[in-house]
Amino acid sequence: MSEWRVPLTDIAMPEEDVQAVADCLRSGWLTLGPRTQAFEGALAAHVGTPHAVAVSSGTAALHLACRAAGLGHGDEVIVPAFTFIASASAARYVGATPVLCDVRGPHDFNIDIEDVARRITPRTRAVIAVHFCGYPADVLALRELCDEHSLTLIEDCAQAICAQVDASGRQVGTVGQLGAFSFFSKKQLCVGEGGMVTTADEELAAKVRLLRSHAMTSGTWDRHSGRTDTYDVVGLGFNYRIDEPRAALGLSRLGRLDSDIAKRRAIVRAYREQLAGIPGLELPWDDSAVERSSHFAFPVLLADREARDRFRDDLKDNGVQTTWYPALHTFTECQQLAPAGGLPGAEQAAARHCALPLSSTMDEAAVAIVVEAVKQALTH
Ligand SMILES: *Cc1c(COP(=O)(O)O)cnc(C)c1O
Repeated sequence: MSEWRVPLTDIAMPEEDVQAVADCLRSGWLTLGPRTQAFEGALAAHVGTPHAVAVSSGTAALHLACRAAGLGHGDEVIVPAFTFIASASAARYVGATPVLCDVRGPHDFNIDIEDVARRITPRTRAVIAVHFCGYPADVLALRELCDEHSLTLIEDCAQAICAQVDASGRQVGTVGQLGAFSFFSKKQLCVGEGGMVTTADEELAAKVRLLRSHAMTSGTWDRHSGRTDTYDVVGLGFNYRIDEPRAALGLSRLGRLDSDIAKRRAIVRAYREQLAGIPGLELPWDDSAVERSSHFAFPVLLADREARDRFRDDLKDNGVQTTWYPALHTFTECQQLAPAGGLPGAEQAAARHCALPLSSTMDEAAVAIVVEAVKQALTH
């Protein structure tokens, strides 16, 4: 399919996953029903949250989290400038204004809590914290700050399912009032397109459930299974339902999630060992942070933007696919969000980083090809 010797990501699809989807297709029930309920229950248990509501994408999860939190026109929502665009779009969907804040810098891409504190105004209503590349942001400290100012904390966990916020093993998505996850095809738990909202608050969970399906008080499955035969519409909702084949696939894949993440972590350790001390190359975060990350991506740092772009070209010539994330305020659509004085941490991280191939299916030979290509790129 691709010419890459080592693609950025790869997906294993064992027979048991295909079987789970085939069983679902043959069951004759294709949308939100028993498999979705089972998927939600298993996810909630896995993440350690009382409520999990499955939706059609991570973006839908963020949107519904913002709606359930009651955010709207005139509200400011603080969002890190170094993330995927959907984190900020969610605030805009509900009419709120994203206020970009900085990240800690090129050696830690996560939200800078001191900068969050500086950007709080009387209009601030929420913070969307992103656990970037799978590394947990310090949401425990951030939750304290949010509580002091009566702000809602929404965790964007799209890249970080199963990442741990502390040594006790507490997971991302359990610290903020709401968490949003993605099951997009590049994420650690992937079904193609899908997402989930987590919360410990029963009322918020009920709101998200309503909004997911047109704010209807009952669903097609409820009527099919005889629980009720009518419904009311009690708000302006959406069709953000996930379908049953995806829920079946997610449930099947969830059984291997921990071992998949362990494989990603082992590859990251191998990379970090073999890439240590190469002149011109630095590794963000430190070895001690590796254990608590669920490793969506493996970023490395080059000296500057020019060196990074050259590095990417060299790797491409060697058949190694890479990618990078621009800072949000450098997109045409988001230029007006750039604060005076810029966001130096996000700008430097964006300019200097490059993500190398990482997936649970990579083997030592693939790591060796990437490491060799990196060494070649930095010695000419
Ligand atoms: C992937 C991603 C999203 C959006 O998830 P989709 O399922 O693609 O809609 C949101 N935030 C971050 C940080 C992401 O990486």
